[in-house]
Amino acid sequence: MRIAIVGGGAAGLMCAATLAESGVANDVVLLEKNAELGKKVLISGGGRCNVTTGLSDVRQLLLRYPRGQKFLQKAMYHFPPLAVRDWFESHGVPLKVEKDLRVFPVSDNGSDIVGVFKRLFDQANVQILYGHQVISISESQHVFTLHLKQTISLEVDAVVLTTGGQAYRHTGSTGDGYTFAEKLGHTITPLAPSLSAFIVEEHWPKTLAGVSVKNATITCGNKRFTGPFLFTHKGITGPAVFALSALIAFETCTPQKKLHMEINLFPDRQADVFVKELHELAQSHGKKNLLNIISTIIPYSIAEICLGENYINANQHGASLSKEQAQNVVHWLQHIPITVISRVAGDEFVTAGGVNTKDVDPKTMESLLVPGLYFAGEILDIDGFTGGFNLQASWATGRLAGEAIISTSNHILHNT
Ligand SMILES: Cc1cc2nc3c(=O)[nH]c(=O)nc-3n(C[C@H](O)[C@H](O)[C@H](O)COP(=O)(O)OP(=O)(O)OC[C@H]3O[C@@H](n4cnc5c(N)ncnc54)[C@H](O)[C@@H]3O)c2cc1C
Repeated sequence: MRIAIVGGGAAGLMCAATLAESGVANDVVLLEKNAELGKKVLISGGGRCNVTTGLSDVRQLLLRYPRGQKFLQKAMYHFPPLAVRDWFESHGVPLKVEKDLRVFPVSDNGSDIVGVFKRLFDQANVQILYGHQVISISESQHVFTLHLKQTISLEVDAVVLTTGGQAYRHTGSTGDGYTFAEKLGHTITPLAPSLSAFIVEEHWPKTLAGVSVKNATITCGNKRFTGPFLFTHKGITGPAVFALSALIAFETCTPQKKLHMEINLFPDRQADVFVKELHELAQSHGKKNLLNIISTIIPYSIAEICLGENYINANQHGASLSKEQAQNVVHWLQHIPITVISRVAGDEFVTAGGVNTKDVDPKTMESLLVPGLYFAGEILDIDGFTGGFNLQASWATGRLAGEAIISTSNHILHNT
């Protein structure tokens, strides 16, 4: 069988590797518009490549995907994080699991991950066409014709579309695959940036740039997420912010249509108990000033803002903290209002939305509309939180597409 994989990112690489290692004699060509493979893999995880997650329970894993949870079930049970880790380790890249369950190469170098594929393709029968951009794809009588920018065309029996989303466009992922899929009859669900930082209207968060919080709940309407976050010179970022941005990916957020959010710096504390404890703390350090007392429970710079926002004199003695003031402080710490005026443009990690999963067989990744056409990775309407979940989805769907093609080609071989 002649097979073309369009896009040499995580999903395309894993699909090509699966075909290469199958031992089934297929003609596999991987078309990549860049001069190198896996450009996004190389910058992922800040260059360290958070290759997958240390979560091994697939049910728990699937909860980390705001879109595509059900669709991904087969792929994830078939190639779960533990199998992904084994695969990379057995291909010569030792991995480590960090405290927050993110998995990285021991070397902290994402190029080790891409290196696995390069070595594998050098030894196997996979033709890599670097700098080859597909500009359109047509299909007639089970033969696909790929038209390339270089005014050449290619005829194949199967196509795997692994062109990614449209985040970080300079890496080559410019959403081309959506057009190809649409022209071949598939629906593209609405697209939106996901895993992005927020720009806030208030000035005070910007004065806290660089201050991090280990565990807070950030709420927007009926969506909330608890985890670490960080203040920036524009607003807020970090895992909890990214996760919330995924949950509200399709909410409009502009200076005209602002999003009102609340930060709870003490999500595990019951308000009335907290007020009592704070009051007692202030009384027991009656001669100290309030700023010093409150900065024993939150970073000094946040304590300054907290007192300022509540019109409490920072130099006031602990002994003079009234019950009402204690209540105001606690209320503020558990309901800090912030107004988000936009997402940080062009900085999102993934695209929410994509090829409608209703048009794709979750057992094979093959199109239900055009036999012989497969999809894998971020091009699909699937996306996860940060923590290795997006690469995990790309490895798992890329693998499944590769295996489905192998079983089809085996079937053809046995029947000819
Ligand atoms: C800055 C950043 C950091 C990230 N960090 C992590 C992380 O640590 N862990 C994690 O799990 N996820 C991370 N992600 C998300 C993750 O990298 C992506 O979800 C994943 O790489 C998507 O893989 P993919 O193969 O579907 O698509 P892509 O990696 O986007 O690959 C698509 C490929 O197709 C090529 N292509 C596109 N159109 C054409 C065409 N017409 N012809 C030929 N080639 C074409 C592109 O050049 C590209 O190489 C990060 C994303 C970003 C932007």
